[in-house]
Amino acid sequence: MSEHRASDPLAAAASCALCPRRCGVNRLAGETGFCQAGAVPRLFRYGPHLGEEPPISGTQGSGTLFFSHCTLRCIYCQNHPWSQGGQGEDIEVTELTARMRQLAEQGCHNWNLVSPTPWLPWIREAARPLIQAGIRLPFVYNTSGFELPETLSAHADLLDIALVDLRYARSETAREASACDTYVEVARACVQWLWAHLGPLEVDAAGTARRGVICRLLVLPGRADEAVDSLNWLAAHVGVGVHISVMSQYTPVYQALGKPGWGRPVTAAEYGRVTEAFEKLGFENGWVQEYGAEAPHDLLGCDMPAGAGAVGR
Ligand code: SF4
Repeated sequence: MSEHRASDPLAAAASCALCPRRCGVNRLAGETGFCQAGAVPRLFRYGPHLGEEPPISGTQGSGTLFFSHCTLRCIYCQNHPWSQGGQGEDIEVTELTARMRQLAEQGCHNWNLVSPTPWLPWIREAARPLIQAGIRLPFVYNTSGFELPETLSAHADLLDIALVDLRYARSETAREASACDTYVEVARACVQWLWAHLGPLEVDAAGTARRGVICRLLVLPGRADEAVDSLNWLAAHVGVGVHISVMSQYTPVYQALGKPGWGRPVTAAEYGRVTEAFEKLGFENGWVQEYGAEAPHDLLGCDMPAGAGAVGR
């Protein structure tokens, strides 16, 4: 995929290869690929997010745009009504511009693009008039890690800060939980690409993120060993200076409910193994979520209403 092709909305929609699925479908002609995304951006919710990592949420919130449709199908996805169920509102690029402007006017610290991959060329078109008018917030690229390096390269102007997951260390788990055989190698290559291009997290005088990588590690039930493997891999291939967000908040929802091995929270012992490895390996930066901490109810995506509004207050 050439840079020109990836940056032209019509070309991208006419033969979609924005993510590693490379479906090749003509989204303009009504065809849909794995993610089911169409030819018009679909947005479920937008607003200031107070529940992200501290340098991302800052004091005013992260200007979050929850895009519909996703390139993975995680059985435990908290955002499944719109990531897999397709809920959301179809909006023209001009309307997306207006919503991004609104987030900037509300004082949000950044534009936080949640699962943006199927919509990248449209997001660029939406941001263009704002940037031309001197309105430019840092872009947070909020991704599962299932990305093509060539798509990242072609949209590097939408990448200032990366919030990137490293979900699995075993292909069998990725296949079972996210319908994705290639996740481990693809996501690891994605983290390396992001680290090479963005580097360590940089914050301003107020502690708000300006640039760099945060890697998220959601500990999964019965799979603490995979999270430890991911930490080992990060230490060896990225370095212990990278900011890591270790998360205990796995909640069995959606298809994980009642599924053997997935239908329960992570135990304190499992979580302890991961936090111990984080410390032993000498990671210097990041956040370790408290085990069993009560998250604000509206942080659970499937309980979140559509439309405009703050998250995590
Ligand atoms: S973005 Fe969607 S349609 Fe395009 S290649 Fe990926 S899964 Fe297929």
